[in-house]
This record gives sequence, structure tokens and C-alpha cells, in this order.
Amino acid sequence: MDEKVESLRGVGPKRAEILRKHGIKTVRDFFYNLPRDYENYERPMSIAEIRPGKVVIRGKIGKITTRRAQRRNLSVTEAEISDKTGRVKVVWFNQSYRAKQFEPEREYYFMGSYELARGRFCLMSPAVALATEVEKSGGLQPIYVAHGALKSHDFKRLVAGVRDKFNEIPDLLPSVPAGTRKKALFLAHFPESLEVAMRARDYLAYEELFELILAGRLNRLENEKLKAKAVKFRVEKVKEFLARLPFVLTDAQKKAVWEIFQDMERKVPMNRLLQGDVGSGKTMVAGLATFMAILSGQQVALLAPTAILAKQHFEGIKQILEPFRMTVALLTGATKDKKGVKKAILAGQINLVIGTHALLTDDTEFCNLGLVIIDEQHRFGVEQRQKLALKSPKGLAPHLLAMTATPIPRSLQLTVFGDLEVSILNQMPKGRKPIKTEILREIEISERLYPKILDTVRAKQQIYWVCKAIDDNSASETVSVKKRTEKLKAMFPRLRIKFLHGRMKQSEKDEIMEQFSKGLVDILVTTTVIEVGVDVPNASVMIIENAEGYGLAQIHQLRGRVGRGTAKSFCYLLTSGDLEPSRRLKELEKSTDGFYLAEVDLKMRGPGEIYGALQHGVLDLRIASLTDTRLIARARRDVYNFLKNPENMVKYNELMQNITKYQQITTLN
Ligand code: ADP
Ligand code: MG
Repeated sequence: MDEKVESLRGVGPKRAEILRKHGIKTVRDFFYNLPRDYENYERPMSIAEIRPGKVVIRGKIGKITTRRAQRRNLSVTEAEISDKTGRVKVVWFNQSYRAKQFEPEREYYFMGSYELARGRFCLMSPAVALATEVEKSGGLQPIYVAHGALKSHDFKRLVAGVRDKFNEIPDLLPSVPAGTRKKALFLAHFPESLEVAMRARDYLAYEELFELILAGRLNRLENEKLKAKAVKFRVEKVKEFLARLPFVLTDAQKKAVWEIFQDMERKVPMNRLLQGDVGSGKTMVAGLATFMAILSGQQVALLAPTAILAKQHFEGIKQILEPFRMTVALLTGATKDKKGVKKAILAGQINLVIGTHALLTDDTEFCNLGLVIIDEQHRFGVEQRQKLALKSPKGLAPHLLAMTATPIPRSLQLTVFGDLEVSILNQMPKGRKPIKTEILREIEISERLYPKILDTVRAKQQIYWVCKAIDDNSASETVSVKKRTEKLKAMFPRLRIKFLHGRMKQSEKDEIMEQFSKGLVDILVTTTVIEVGVDVPNASVMIIENAEGYGLAQIHQLRGRVGRGTAKSFCYLLTSGDLEPSRRLKELEKSTDGFYLAEVDLKMRGPGEIYGALQHGVLDLRIASLTDTRLIARARRDVYNFLKNPENMVKYNELMQNITKYQQITTLN
């Protein structure tokens, strides 16, 4: 089972390289490279009786040719299929490997759509399987995801080559009868019927859930063993703090703060995730936690993903903490006297340091780090978060508060994050007006957006205009930041238009952001560098060009840059082609509720991608199963039983190995 793939027949160095790149290194990995779907070749028709629509035929293939079509990047492979009753033309696009797939005397099954193309009926891009293989399996054929030169049929052959080795697969879980796992894996690859295949996959989904939940559980138990300094809750000081704010906390903020205080009062490190939609006021919650920790004599580190954001937090929080004689420092790549700041941190002269990756370097040492706050935590890898956590005094772990604006769908919360403490800000500060979102086509810019721009500027409000690329690139049709800036300047010579992007020097970026926050810029043309967290309440219009090129969550984040003040805000999603807008954009037009959108996103993209967005893609789930609450409940119950017997951890060694990767994801420190 642990043999390298190179030991298999049909795998040379080249194929081994492709496989390795996709995580298939050993025979065991082949078992878990499950089919993405199954094709049902039952009941083929004779060529004489086929009608337009989906068809399955069985026949031989004649001479096969591939040519380049006039349009660039398109290859056309053509051939004829024949059986006893007739012939039919077959075409594949961009599948030139088909030309080498067939052996002349053998029979194959073809499944595809029979349709009219250029005045002639033909079979379009059919799936193919060897007749002998199809008939062995009762008509059902697995389909594997192709990886580079390795196509589904190659995987089929390779898996068939390790057929005997399925027997070596050990049991993984005590909660199911012996042999269940090997049988399920085998049947997922070689099913006798669709029903059998689905049952096998259900079991494997259960196994996966079991691993996820167990990982979360173990993390929690491990965290409980760590020691932290307790933070005392001082009600009179909190009152003083709140009295100085220009607003009152929302109920959701109060609740989150309360939950955090209770965690920090313990001598076990807090490990809490604060989730709140963009603009829900996470920073103030973090500010209160910071305040309380500093009062208890501890240092606090706040890690932000960008320098712009760090600076903004710095300015906002400094203002609140300084009246209490607390010292706040900023540490980013652009900080002039890094050495001096670091010295002051080590000497304990700094109570709160806010910074970017610069905080993570080994020479940033604390004298009494008691609380770590990570803003937009999904932007950081596990190692980075751990680095900070290790900066506490020996033998102690800091309390940890991670914040994210990517709401985790409820279904994920039950599994992956089931054992994590989560606070949710599901309420917006008072007075916010919902952002109106509209999909526009690029050709509507002058008619619809130009007047809007003028109105906005006249009302002394500001505008973000987001572009995909920085420079122009002839191969792509997207309008770049520079091009858009030129166009807007030509159109509105009297407006103050500036651009901002990630390749500019930090000092330039800061300068422009500063001007924008002071209201000295009317339109800021930018890339997604402003995506995270930037807070300029006076900006009320967000225009996103080539909106189809962004993910749902990303647009939602961008949109959250407006709607922060009291003015009614607008978001325009520009699309270039004539195609109907995607479901993604339509959902964004319909709703501004991040939690709702996260559910939609989960359904549309599958959980693997959501995790990816959350956690740098450390996790890829093989089977989408996170919406099955009954299965989740069962796995959870079985995990609890599993943990009752400490011997299990030793006995089910493979299980314990599998879950380390999940453990990284479900831990915050
Ligand atoms: P996010 O959750 O996206 O990080 P912020 O913490 O940046 O949101 O808050 C967004 C804006 O709302 C800030 O200008 C902040 O001062 C303001 N804010 C926070 N809490 C409240 C509140 N309870 N009432 C009114 N405004 C608030
Ligand atoms: Mg924020």
C-alpha cells in the first residue's frame, strides 16, 4: 500500500511527476483518488436507431484525424464509428489525445450527444470506454478527474492495476464492522451499480466527517492542557471605556465581548473565532479585549494582513487607548525605526503592537505577551499564526482571538469548527443603510455610471473603482487600473482621481490611502489591495469592473468597503460580454447578507473551496458531505465514544495520522 506509484506498471518518471503534483504518491493515494462521477453505459443502441439527444452506442472506430481549427487554441479530432447497422461521424474538441486512445480491432462504448453541426449529424465529444471493461462492470464506468496528460481512462487503467491491493486496506474506525472500509473503497472504484457506488461513498463521507470532528475534539482537549495568564474583568473600567465611544455597542458586539471576557478570565488560553460580516464592528470588540488584557498587565499583538489595514487599526485604536495611558506601536515593513520599536516591545514599554508580517520575525520579542489578535485570520497560514503564539513567556500560551469576515456556513460550523469557540456579529451598527447592488454592462458605463459619479462627488462622497489588472495587457480585454484612470481623467478633468495598486511602494500607498480617507480624492481606481478591512465611511460607491472574474466572497468583501457611513451606498458590478450574468452575480445583486451568501457559495462551489478560502487550501475534501446533518450527528456521537477509550488512539494509528492535517485547520494557535 505504501509502494511508490513508480512501482506500478504504466507509470514512468513523467507520469509519476504529474501524479505527485496532484497528491498521488503511493498506491494508497490511488485508493482515495475517487471517481468524480459515473457513466452509465447500460442499454446501448444500434447506430441505425439513434435519434438526436443523448445516446450510447457500441462500435469500432475507423481512421481518426486531428486538425487545428481556424480559431486559435481549438483542435478538432474526427473519426467514424461503425457497428453492424451503420456509421456515424464523431467529433471531439481539444481532446487530441483521443487520436491515440483507440486500438483498431477493439470495440468501445461511446456516450455523448447526437446533434446537428454544420449541416450534418454527428456524435459530439462522447465519453469512451472499452467494451470489455464496461461489460465486466455491468455498464457502470467511473469517471476520474483528468490531470494534465493523464486522462480519466488512464486513471481507470491504473486503478485496475492495483485491484488486488485493496485487500491490504486496514480498518480505520472501530464504529463500523471490520472490512467496511476496504469494501467501500473498492466499490467506489468498481461499482456493480449506481446504488452500490453511492452507498460506498456515503460510508467514505462518514469516515471523513469522523476524522474532521475527531481532529477538532483533540485540538480542544490539547488546548485545555495549556496554561495562560488570566485576565481580570474590571467592570468600572469597561464603563469608562464605553463612555468615551461615539456610539453604543450593538447587542451582538456586547455578547461577543462578554464571551471573550469569560474566556480570558480562565487560566486556559482562549481560542476563539470572531465572525462578523464586513462592517459589523469587529475592531471595537478586539479593542475591548485589548483594553482588558493591558489592564491586567499583559502585552497584546494585533496582526493584520496588509500595511494599510495595520495603519488604520493603529490610528483608530491608539485614539481610544491613549487617554488610558496605554502605549500603542505600529510595526510594518515601512516602519522607520524597527529596531527601536522592537526594543521597546521587549522592554515592556509598548502595551499593544499592531503590525503585519513584520511582527512574526524572530527578533520581535515580547516581555509579557498575553493576547494575540489576528485580523482576517484566513489570510495567514497556520505556521504564521503559531509563530506569534510562541512569543509568550515560557510555559504560557497567549489568549487568542481570530477574526474573520468570511462567514462560515452553519454546516461547516457543525463539523470543522464544532469544537472551536465562535462568536458571531450578526447585526450591523445602527443607522447603516443597505447597499444597493446592480449588475451593469460595460457599455452602460457612460449612460449610467458617469451621471452617478457626478452626483456622488457633488454630494461630497467618494468612489472606489476596482480593476483586475494593473497594466494593460494586449492579450486580455480587461481594462487596467492605469487605463481606467486615464479614461476617467479624460472624462472628468476637474475631479481628483488617483490610483492605487500592490506594486506601488508602501509609502506611496499609504500616502494615497491617507488622502482618500481625508476626502482629498474623489475616485480611487484600484486593484483588490483595498479588499480587506479598509474603512472610509465617506465612500459610498463601489464599482467593480470585470466582476465575473471574482469569487462571490471576494466581491462581498469589496462591496463591504462602502455602506459604512450614513449615506446610501451603491455597488455596481460590471460585466463585459453579452452573456447572461452568472448566478453568483445575481445572488450578490439580491442579497447583502454575508451568512446567506456563504451558504449559497458553499452549495455552488462545494466545501473544498470554502476551506481553501478560509485556510490557504490546506484541506481538500474528497467528498462533499458537510450538508448532511444526520451523518454529522452520527459521526459526532461516534467520535465521543471513540475518545472514551484512550487505547483507540494507539490502535487506530492510521486514523491518527490522517487527522493531523485536519488538526492544523481546526486550530487557531
Ligand atoms: P469590520 O467588522 O468589517 O472589521 P469595523 O470594525 O471596521 O468593521 O467597523 C466598521 C465601522 O463601524 C467603523 O467605522 C467603526 O467605528 C464603526 N462601528 C463599530 N461599532 C459600531 C457601533 N456599535 N455603532 C456604530 N458604529 C460602529
Ligand atoms: Mg475589519
